[in-house]
Amino acid sequence: MKQLRIGHLYPKLLNIYGDGGNIITLKKRAEWRGFVVIIDEINSGDTFISEHDVYFIGGGQDVQQIEVSKELQKHKDFLTSERDRGAVFLGICGGYQLLGHYYQPHNAEKLLGISLLDAYTVAGNKRFIGNVTVKTDYVNPNTLVGFENHSGLTYLQGETKPIGSVLVGYGNNGKDLTEGARYKNVFGTYLHGSFLPKNPHFADYLLELALGEKLEPLDDTIEYNAHNSLINKKY
Ligand code: GLN
Repeated sequence: MKQLRIGHLYPKLLNIYGDGGNIITLKKRAEWRGFVVIIDEINSGDTFISEHDVYFIGGGQDVQQIEVSKELQKHKDFLTSERDRGAVFLGICGGYQLLGHYYQPHNAEKLLGISLLDAYTVAGNKRFIGNVTVKTDYVNPNTLVGFENHSGLTYLQGETKPIGSVLVGYGNNGKDLTEGARYKNVFGTYLHGSFLPKNPHFADYLLELALGEKLEPLDDTIEYNAHNSLINKKY
């Protein structure tokens, strides 16, 4: 029986705005294609992570990010080798920020990330809140939709490229019109919502990268109704 192994990083700390819905989407869309899906939670204090096809880390407030930042350092070398082996990573907002080099909150100690992405984040003076529409070259249709709520400003460097450009909303930093980040099969985005249920084409894109095979299309009428209802909508 074909398997999909998902490592869910720190769900007890980083799971704000229903980001766990991304795990449910990956699980169901793989099961609907006949895969057996194994989901391992990695929480604070866990010292060992086995290999997985996909790793997911959700968003959270600065306070939760402090603990996760410290915990992640234990697994930095292993997760870097997983990235270089081709495993898929998806980080949302606070989790995305910790996949980069660091997140510098206001008036607080710098939170180290694990540098899977060549990116860094500094706290801004404005909170970016609202719906987001992104134009991307990775999938067809070439739009992604979601909801953002962050004060962090993320800047990309080197070979780390954006997932797309914002048509509506602020994205990475509200200045360079980029949203999200990708390096190898590591993806980060500010899109909550949760992200994947309303972007089934991107969910399948991640699954095909992780499984190394094309997947049979599903009837995504309902998912695209939700997707299309948010395109170019700010509030
Ligand atoms: N604490 C981070 C910020 O405000 C991330 C917030 C989040 O995950 N929604 O930028």
